[in-house]
Amino acid sequence: MSNMSHELRTPLNSVMALSRVLMMQAGKKLSEEEMEYLEIIGRNGKKLLSLINDILDLSKIEAGRLDVIPGPLSVTPVIDAIMEALSPLAKENGTEMEKNIASDLPHIESDEARVYNILQNLIGNAVKFTRGGDVTVSASGDAERIYIEVRDTGIGIPNDSLPHIFEEFRQVDGSTSREYEGTGLGLAIAYKSALMLGGDIAVESTPGVGSTFTLTLPIAWQGPAQILEIEPFPSSGDMGPSHNIVPPSGISLSDGRKPSRRILLVKDNEAAIIQVKAVLESEGYLVDVARGGIEALDYVSETIPDGIILDLMMPEVDGFEVLETIRGRKETVKIPVLILTAKDLTREDMKRLSANNIQQLIQKGDVDREGLLFKTELMLEAKPATRNT
Ligand code: ADP
Repeated sequence: MSNMSHELRTPLNSVMALSRVLMMQAGKKLSEEEMEYLEIIGRNGKKLLSLINDILDLSKIEAGRLDVIPGPLSVTPVIDAIMEALSPLAKENGTEMEKNIASDLPHIESDEARVYNILQNLIGNAVKFTRGGDVTVSASGDAERIYIEVRDTGIGIPNDSLPHIFEEFRQVDGSTSREYEGTGLGLAIAYKSALMLGGDIAVESTPGVGSTFTLTLPIAWQGPAQILEIEPFPSSGDMGPSHNIVPPSGISLSDGRKPSRRILLVKDNEAAIIQVKAVLESEGYLVDVARGGIEALDYVSETIPDGIILDLMMPEVDGFEVLETIRGRKETVKIPVLILTAKDLTREDMKRLSANNIQQLIQKGDVDREGLLFKTELMLEAKPATRNT
């Protein structure tokens, strides 16, 4: 499944990447209707991508291979972030969002990413199935557990459907003409993830009145400690001045502009190359392309870029080998690296990456312009510590 997800995401990335490039570059020449077609391609690409990601998550849960990384966690900022992200949709639906979090809500030990996904699904559903009503997220705790309640005044769920909504692909309205978008996988994943965290999800609902989903999570981590030790990707460290190109960074050009930074893009997928290059060049970066690992290593033996954007899955010499080789050489050890991959990263992959000091990571194949620029900037600002392992 993991390899197949790469096979599925890569062509999908091409479709999405090139439709974005078209919007950026041909935007002015296209009619409004044609621009709309491109938006539809992009929107559907996103849906398909999230479906692929859901199916992959589910298959990993079922195979018992979903990584759970427990750590100290405060759920309040998680709830805040989700509510903020959903507020435009709530506004569009004429729905008010409210929050009611106990001031003494304890911190818990859990997996932040999983808790985020679960709550995103529950709060997202509440907003999706409520028009012109209220969605209230409350949180409280006792000595052993915390309870996060997501209450809506939406369409509700009929009694006979209630036992089935946590099953895969189950939707109350399963018809093809149904009004609400979705795949019917969200709750199945949320429920199984909650169990993996030692918690539970309960539901109460009345058609036409609304629904309440309650996520319970233990305060102390009690699952099998599948603890994955990943060093956080450093955002600062003891690296000296960044590697220079001509003209060297830090030296102003005659008109006072900062010199452009040179990025080496290592990727073998032409559509992705076109997209990433277009985005970065539009912001003044100089982009050189290596279409594979061997080319990349040849390049860095001659030129030291300010940063490398590196794909992992490439024939012959793959991204992991490129990374290990450049981290093993004095001249290249400090070049900041952003990993850009559609590969589903396993625990071993993550270990290999963090052992080799990567600065940023974009995965699962959704590369939007802002995200790419933001992470590229973060990568360049990061001053990787010299590897001492
Ligand atoms: P979907 O992608 O369809 O939202 P989920 O697995 O998240 O899939 O939910 C399964 C089904 O449960 C939904 O299709 C909907 O019928 C029902 N459901 C879930 N949450 C709510 C809610 N807050 N209000 C009404 N119905 C809901």
